Amino acid sequence: MLQGLTADTATDRILESVLSGNRLSVDDAFELYQNGDFLKIQLAAREIRNRKVNPAIASYTAFRVVNYTNFCNVECTFCSFMDEIGSGKGYVLTEDEIVKKMEEALEVGADQMFLQGGVDPRIPFDYYLGVMRAVKEKLGKHIHIRAFSPVELMNMEAITGLPLEEVLRTLKQAGLDSVPGAGAEILTDRMRNILSPKKATSEQWIHVMETCHREGLPGSANIVWGSEETRHEVIEHLDLIRNLQDRTGGFHSFIPWTFQKQTKKFYVRNVPAQEYLKVLGICRLFFDNITHIETSLMVLGQGVGQIALHSGADDISSIVIEENVLRSYGIKSEEKARIFLSESGFLPMRRDFNYTYREPELTLG
Ligand code: SF4
Repeated sequence: MLQGLTADTATDRILESVLSGNRLSVDDAFELYQNGDFLKIQLAAREIRNRKVNPAIASYTAFRVVNYTNFCNVECTFCSFMDEIGSGKGYVLTEDEIVKKMEEALEVGADQMFLQGGVDPRIPFDYYLGVMRAVKEKLGKHIHIRAFSPVELMNMEAITGLPLEEVLRTLKQAGLDSVPGAGAEILTDRMRNILSPKKATSEQWIHVMETCHREGLPGSANIVWGSEETRHEVIEHLDLIRNLQDRTGGFHSFIPWTFQKQTKKFYVRNVPAQEYLKVLGICRLFFDNITHIETSLMVLGQGVGQIALHSGADDISSIVIEENVLRSYGIKSEEKARIFLSESGFLPMRRDFNYTYREPELTLG
C-alpha cells in the first residue's frame, strides 16, 4: 500500500488495485472521476509515472508549428482560425515560405516541424509532397516532419481517389515521419455533432489513426474537454484510445487539453485546475499501455503545468515556436524550458519525437 492511501473507501480500493498492477476498468475510471479523492489520485498517478520513467527527470522537445493554410471547409464550431474557401481572406503558404519558417526554427534550436492546416480540396496533393520534399532536401533529412490530422488525410484520400494506405505511403516517401493525434477532441458521435458535424466521425478518426500506425506512422493522442461532454464521454474517449493502442502500439504519448473560448458558437466552461489535474492523473492510471503523459502549458499555464509533472505527467510537450490556433502560455526557448523544469523539481531532459533522450544513461531501462 502506498503511504497516504488507506483503502477505506471504494475509490481507495480502486487505486490500490491499479497500484498492484491491475488494469483500470472503464467503470472504475468513471468512479474515480466522480468520487475519487483528488490528492490520492495524484499520489497514485505519480507513483505509476515514477515506475514508468525516471522519477528525477521531466522532458521537453522543440518544434515549430506551421499552419500551411487557414482555408477550411470543415467549420468546427470552436475554431476561430479558419477562413471560408472563396472568402478571399485566407492564405496558403508557399513552399519557400514554409522552408524559411523552418530555417528560422532551426536557428533557435527546433528540429521538428508540425505541419497542419485547414481542409481545402483546391490544394493539390503534390503541394503536400512538394513541401515535405523541399524541407528535407533544403534543411536536412534529420528534420522530423509531423503532419496532418485525420480530416486532412481523408481530404487527400478524396482528392486523389487513392486508398488511404497509398496516400500514406506516398506521404512517407516524400518525408512524413509521424502524425499528430489532432482533431480527436471528444470521440463520441454526440459530441462530434456538436463540435464539428462535418469532421471525421469517431469511427473514421480511429480508422485513419489505426491505418497510420500500421503504415509505420506513429503519433500521440489527446483529449480536449470542457464543453458539453459528460464525464462518461470523457472516459469513453480514453477507452477508445486505449483499445486502439492495444491493437497497434502506435501512440508515444497522451496529452489532456481543455477547450479555449474562441468563438461564440461553442459553449466552453472553465475547467478548474483541480479537475484538469484529476483527469490527467486518471489518464496516467488508465493508460497502462502508453508510457508518456504530457501536460500542455499552453492551455492552463505554467503553474498548473508544474503541479501536473508531480501528478502523473512526465513531459511538457514542447517549446512551441509558433501557434496560430491557441492563445499561448507556452515556453518559447530551450533555456526557459530548462529553467522551468528545474524550478519544478526535475532534471530537464531534451527528447526527440520518439522520446529518445539526449542523455540516455539517465533514463530508465
Ligand atoms: S479546427 Fe481545423 S478542421 Fe476545424 S475548422 Fe478549424 S482549421 Fe478546419
